[in-house]
Amino acid sequence: MVVISECSAPTASRCFPVSLRKDAAGVLVRRLSLPRRSWSSKVPSFRTLAVRASTPLSVASEACAKVIDGKYVSKLIRDKISAEVSRMKEAIGVVPGLAVILVGDRKDSATYVRNKKKACESVGINSFEVQLPADSREEEVLKFISGFDDDPSVHGILVQLPLPSHVNEQSILNAVSIEKDVDGFHPLNVGRLAMRGREPLFVPCTPKGCIELLHRYGIGIKGKRAVVIGRSNIVGMPAALLLQREDATISIVHSRTQNPEEITREADIIIAAVGQANMVRGSWIKPGAVIIDVGINPVEDSKSSRGYKLVGDVCYEEACKVASAITPVPGGVGPMTIAMLLSNTLTSAKRAHNFQ
Ligand code: NAP
Repeated sequence: MVVISECSAPTASRCFPVSLRKDAAGVLVRRLSLPRRSWSSKVPSFRTLAVRASTPLSVASEACAKVIDGKYVSKLIRDKISAEVSRMKEAIGVVPGLAVILVGDRKDSATYVRNKKKACESVGINSFEVQLPADSREEEVLKFISGFDDDPSVHGILVQLPLPSHVNEQSILNAVSIEKDVDGFHPLNVGRLAMRGREPLFVPCTPKGCIELLHRYGIGIKGKRAVVIGRSNIVGMPAALLLQREDATISIVHSRTQNPEEITREADIIIAAVGQANMVRGSWIKPGAVIIDVGINPVEDSKSSRGYKLVGDVCYEEACKVASAITPVPGGVGPMTIAMLLSNTLTSAKRAHNFQ
């Protein structure tokens, strides 16, 4: 566990108090103008901040990046999905269904599965859950996948990763039919994502959420220099493919990259998916760059009742002073990942029933 003190204190609220934005209609004493950029009108304009009288002056005078509010955007997306699920049910009597298979008793995995189930409920998607013991044989897992594949009330199948080491991840991911591969991890979907002129049936949820945030905030990608830090199958690699499909020029930084700082500093857009708390410092960032921080890293925090808090891969406090926009952790990419999973499940159900 890494703790870098100067990066451990800040939160989104320090540079861009969410509460101020939401309830500022009351006491407005001063307005803080951020540099004008080509932000989309699709999201509320946060360019002008209302600052309460009690807010310390130092906050207002610091150069602050716009916060890319994944929690807010994901709520908009979920509301839309909820309306679509109702419309589909009324029109053709079909409710989208998502099946989640959890193997083993990892606490973090169990939490993710629980959150996915809750998210399904919140938008009216049916969820089916199977919990298998850690010593389950591969054939047992495959049997459940096959059952869900044959079940017309299931439109998406997700196997929670990581799997216990004796279960072959490749065989499991290959077994999910590409029509129900709402995680987008099947090699055929990934292959189509990589090929020009081909369309995957599904795109992996976390990278899709990153790109969605860029779109929603009107951040241009075409022709931009983008650096993706991390090359995992589930985040870094598909994120780079997606950016490339959007005509960005991509560099991928990984654990063997020489001069990662220098390469990252060339980027107009940085997607950090490393799993190293606060690795990307202010000096790594080109002034005005846009930062999407995928990392979720627990660091010690004596002030928290849990004894820890979550931070990203990017040193938020330093980045805020250099970047033009940044996702907070938590409240940035995380909520978007689940929203994209729901969206993929809805898309799958619509496709299966030819419902527009
Ligand atoms: P992963 O599979 O462990 O991959 C990490 C990647 O970072 C690897 O490609 C690795 O390079 C690279 N890397 C590691 N140390 C590095 C260093 N010092 N310099 C440069 N690159 C380095 O992790 P992941 O599954 O992609 O997840 C990354 C982070 O995102 C984690 O914090 C995870 O919790 C988070 N995450 C968040 C969400 C969300 O919804 N917000 C979803 C998924 C993951 P090599 O390939 O060379 O080993």
